[in-house]
Order: sequence, then C-alpha cells, then structure tokens
Amino acid sequence: MTFEQLDLITPILKALQERNYKEPTAIQAQAIPKILAKRDILGSAQTGTGKTAAFSLPIIQLLHTEKNNHKGKLAIKSLIVTPTRELAIQIDENLAYYGKYTKLKHAVIFGGVKQGAQVNELRRGVDILVATPGRLLDLINQGFIKLDQIKIFVLDEADRMLDMGFINDIKKLLKLLPSKRQSLFFSATMPDNIVSLAGKILTDPVKIEV
Ligand code: AMP
Repeated sequence: MTFEQLDLITPILKALQERNYKEPTAIQAQAIPKILAKRDILGSAQTGTGKTAAFSLPIIQLLHTEKNNHKGKLAIKSLIVTPTRELAIQIDENLAYYGKYTKLKHAVIFGGVKQGAQVNELRRGVDILVATPGRLLDLINQGFIKLDQIKIFVLDEADRMLDMGFINDIKKLLKLLPSKRQSLFFSATMPDNIVSLAGKILTDPVKIEV
C-alpha cells in the first residue's frame, strides 16, 4: 500500500516524501479513505500508531480542495481537541509539516500561558484550530472563537480527556458545534463511558481498531 493509492493530492504527497514516509501505517490505510469519503470515525488507537497523520492528512485535503472553491472566508473549518498542551503542540507541528504546500492556516491554543498571542493569531484567520478544552471554552466565552462554520471536529485521546476531568467542558463544547458536521473520535481504550460519549458525538461511524 502506498500513499498515492489512498488518493492523496500532490501537495500532501510531496510533504510526505520530504518527511521520508514510505507507506501508510495501519490506521492511516484504514482511516484516510473513510475520512476523505466524509464518514465519521470511531478509532481505537494509541499514540505512536500514526494516528495524528491519519486524521490530519485527510482534513488538510478536504479543506484544501474546498478552500479553492470558496476563497477568502476566515471562519474556522476544523477543530481538533486534545487533552494536553504537549499533544496540542505536536498536532500543530504535524499540521505545519503536512500542510506546508497548501495555503491552509492552522493555530494552537492551550492554557497556562497569556492569551494575547493566541488571540492575535485567531484574528488573522485560522482554518484548522488545535485546542485544549479549558482555553478553548475560555476564548469562546470571550467571543474570540466561533464554531458555527466547523465542518470537521476531532476529539483526540478521549479516554485521557475524561480521566483529566474534562467531561463537562466536552459537553459544553458539543452544544456549540454545528449538528451537521463530520466527527472523528479517537481513544486508546473503549470503556462504557467512552462508548457512550462517542454515541453522542458520532453519526453512523466507521469503527477502526489498530
Ligand atoms: P503518532 O501516533 O501520530 O503520534 O505518530 C507517531 C510517529 O510516527 C510520529 O513521529 C510520526 O511522525 C511517525 N509517523 C506517522 N506516520 C508515519 C508513516 N506513515 N511512516 C513513518 N513514520 C510515520
């Protein structure tokens, strides 16, 4: 299996070649075609499986293709929520790399630092936003972030999110997302409370286990 066979576009294939990725990992081979086909995903996968590229590459492709049809809109199109600052920064770095031959704009926000620089970046317009839950709700409440144009929502490391006590933040967030959207849900483990949360977020998901 090659990345070409997954129908990825040239700007993405070029970035992958530069990164020296030879072939997709198991989760990438399974998830990328389904995400490009706009399906919801329930993915059971740990960090280290290539999960980040599995959702980042098709998001970049879907938004890049769409952006060429609707120029100039500033609204956030994809929101990726992850539990920790370290994971958020890692995902954002991956987006920078995989999207380097597109014009998509990405930004990362997390708590524990002053919000000024993050707000300035949001004002410049962001297509893909990576966020931890607390700072995200904070900036939404202050009116710096609107979620009404979100097309693709990712909840990453859902089990860790609940372990860290973010369930109420996630529930608040879900109320603010457009009901017509694509959702990708990833968790290393699938206990009952995670399955129940996934049921509230996803519509007819493709289940992927690696
Ligand atoms: P992740 O599970 O997303 O944190 O990725 C784990 C590591 O694998 C990261 O360092 C990625 O850069 C790397 N990686 C992801 N996909 C591939 C691939 N198809 N080939 C080689 N390395 C990869």
